[in-house]
Amino acid sequence: MNRLTESQKQEIWSVTVETVEKANNLFQNLRMQTPTVEFTNMGATAGRAFPSRNIVKFNDTLAAENFDAFKKRTVVHEVAHLIDYQLHGWQHTRNGRRIMHGASFKRIMVHLGADPSTCHSYDVSSVRKSRKQYVWTNSVGTVMLLGAQRHKRALAGTRYWMRGDTVKDYQYKGVAPF
Ligand SMILES: [Zn+2]
Repeated sequence: MNRLTESQKQEIWSVTVETVEKANNLFQNLRMQTPTVEFTNMGATAGRAFPSRNIVKFNDTLAAENFDAFKKRTVVHEVAHLIDYQLHGWQHTRNGRRIMHGASFKRIMVHLGADPSTCHSYDVSSVRKSRKQYVWTNSVGTVMLLGAQRHKRALAGTRYWMRGDTVKDYQYKGVAPF
């Protein structure tokens, strides 16, 4: 897995600081402090903002593998979440779900000159968790696929079967070929 170099981390830090300065100039009511920036491993998630703690976390591997796009896009995206929170607080739908990418978020992104769409298109193959499936069959040929967790338990003696099975003598056959 690739990792950011120290100088790349510095660059991401600089973009963060610049974005905050830009926002402080753009939005009259904003007096934002520079957030804490952390680099961690977070699976297929590119970044995450913790607005009430003024923290942004970035995916070390995805940042290293998509450095230029990441700087332009993900860094600004996560900082925009902090800005949105500082300007508007938490926003919720009528049934209480937190709105993360609502109108105010998109407006901030546009003001910052960034793409307001929310999906990243980075290749996540190097960070995706494997979804191995384990094939178990019974003596009448029914196939049952177990995930890693249940497979382990099955090997340790927990018995699993499919709904409606009358023959429950499942045996482990091997890892599914995908
Ligand atoms: Zn977001």
